[in-house]
Amino acid sequence: MTNKKGQVIVITGPSGVGKGTILKSVMEDDSSLCFSVSATTRAPRPGEEDGKDYFFVSRERFNEMVAQGELLEYAEYSGNCYGTPRKPLEKLLDQGYDVILDIEIQGARNVMKSYPEALFTFIMPPSFETLEKRLAKRGTETPEKIALRLETAKQELECYKEFQYIIVNDKLEDAVAELQAVITAGRCRCTEYIKNKRGM
Ligand code: ADP
Ligand code: 5GP
Repeated sequence: MTNKKGQVIVITGPSGVGKGTILKSVMEDDSSLCFSVSATTRAPRPGEEDGKDYFFVSRERFNEMVAQGELLEYAEYSGNCYGTPRKPLEKLLDQGYDVILDIEIQGARNVMKSYPEALFTFIMPPSFETLEKRLAKRGTETPEKIALRLETAKQELECYKEFQYIIVNDKLEDAVAELQAVITAGRCRCTEYIKNKRGM
């Protein structure tokens, strides 16, 4: 990469809205994007890889990461802990990558404090019923855990006004195109031009 410094891109929204699905597609098409791999105490789902989807850690190790200041932000969500490792993020930004953080709302608010210039996007479901159906269809949580996530979603959906961009994930290809547009717009901001002094 060049000596350009990357930007932080925060994607948030309720569980099951399609954040991971949209991101997978956007990242496949853009080699200057990197994913920030979070640490979590949640158990891996079938097919999830340690170090790629998450760093799966014990609660003791998570607490240690918090105590050592290794996490940029962290939050408890639906009975598990999640956090963004600070060093790998900084390294990727220094290497010029734009780094995507897929995090819940409390974490996004904390990133607003440390990276106020980041791009903040909220992914919205077309309806609450659609969200319920997507979570059920994904089939990765028990009915009790799904109910808990949906309860949390009700509060999360009220927070959308805190975010710069809203993408309604109805048709997947539209949502993917919109996120690509947001990222492109972010790269064209005057502040990015000044930071990286490309061109004249
Ligand atoms: P999140 O990462 O926000 O928790 P996922 O990306 O895991 O959500 O998506 C939840 C479920 O919804 C998955 O089964 C996924 O295939 C499905 N899904 C995502 N986006 C759409 C869409 N636009 N239309 C229909 N199903 C979708
Ligand atoms: P899941 O268990 O479905 O993978 O994730 C649950 C929620 O945790 C999602 O809303 C996801 O965006 C969020 N999450 C994942 N990693 C992090 C993180 O590092 N920090 C915070 N605050 N939330 C995270």
